[in-house]
Amino acid sequence: MAEITTAVEAAKLAPAARYRGAYVHVPFCRHKCHYCDFYSFVDTENRAHAYVVRLEEELESARPYLTHPIETLFVGGGTPTMLGADLLARMLASVRRLLPFTTDAEWTVEANPETVDESIASALAESGVRRVSLGAQSFNPKLLRALERDHDPASVERAVKLLRSAGIPQVNLDLIFAVPGSTLAEWQEDVAALVALAPDHVSAYGLVYEPNTPLAVKLRKGIVTRIAEDDEAAQYEYVAHALAAAGYERYEISNWSRPGLACKHNILYWQNADWWAFGPSGASHGSGVRWRNVPRLASWLESGPSPMVDEVEHLGEDGRVGECFMLGLRLIHGMAVTRVDELLREGPGSQRRRNVIATAVKDGRLEYRDEHLALTTRGLMVADSVLSALI
Ligand code: SF4
Repeated sequence: MAEITTAVEAAKLAPAARYRGAYVHVPFCRHKCHYCDFYSFVDTENRAHAYVVRLEEELESARPYLTHPIETLFVGGGTPTMLGADLLARMLASVRRLLPFTTDAEWTVEANPETVDESIASALAESGVRRVSLGAQSFNPKLLRALERDHDPASVERAVKLLRSAGIPQVNLDLIFAVPGSTLAEWQEDVAALVALAPDHVSAYGLVYEPNTPLAVKLRKGIVTRIAEDDEAAQYEYVAHALAAAGYERYEISNWSRPGLACKHNILYWQNADWWAFGPSGASHGSGVRWRNVPRLASWLESGPSPMVDEVEHLGEDGRVGECFMLGLRLIHGMAVTRVDELLREGPGSQRRRNVIATAVKDGRLEYRDEHLALTTRGLMVADSVLSALI
């Protein structure tokens, strides 16, 4: 394959792609949390304005390839709300002007609770944002310190109220379990505090020690200790039980929503659909081709109009089939049997995957229900063992 240097060149490898989602990566944060491996940093050079101007240029460069109506926008990072109300509004207006959204497209913006004030909440609502995703992570000061989060737990409630009164109809709260030093009782209090705020959507993830993060280094040096696997499983089981009792439906291993309010953008990822990502480190997928914009703000600002990419991967047929299983089985309703049959019809990995599925069905990790292949309740607890074998 000839060397691919820009996002647009990478997209040319996927002429059949139909981009249904758009992602915008805003790399600025107030503080770098030590477990985080996203491309984000505290900007000491005040480059938010330059970022928005450059993003507009990048949006323009992608327009000829984005002809299919786009159903979802997700603005993540980083902390998009670090842009401040005026730049955030300008950026969202440019996104709306330059990309072809469907009339009822779902727009989500991530926010750090401390950065939400009245002006940010109104800028979001007036720009047409329907969902705001707040990184609460915990309501317990001890656990927030263990995560090196810099927000005050009370700011979550304040942010939720500001967003609601500005007219944002859907609020997601993220929580992290299996934090070093956490007990089941503390986790139960966290879940109760979250439920009391009545979010429309909840993401609850077990803490991951991502390689090369300061947290992983602390783990290696013995400065922090993982909680026991059984304790982590108990925390996961508890949140599943408590959220079901509070009326939430789990639709993915780590995601729950009020009926009908699942995040369409994330579902698009799990369906291995096509989306286009903007901003430094933004990772796109078009019909089996994956590429990532250069993960350095300075290089991204300088390159253009289409940004430099530092990774391009062209998945072969077998790789695509593996990804479809790995992503699709994360959804609670699983994958339609007709789709499974289609994916297993031929190809070098077919027989191996048939065997993996047969074994997992036999030992109760996968099951066929309602014309779908899906993880069982036990399978959800050990999902990685099933999914990694199907890649
Ligand atoms: S606020 Fe979010 S994106 Fe920023 S460093 Fe913390 S976890 Fe990472």
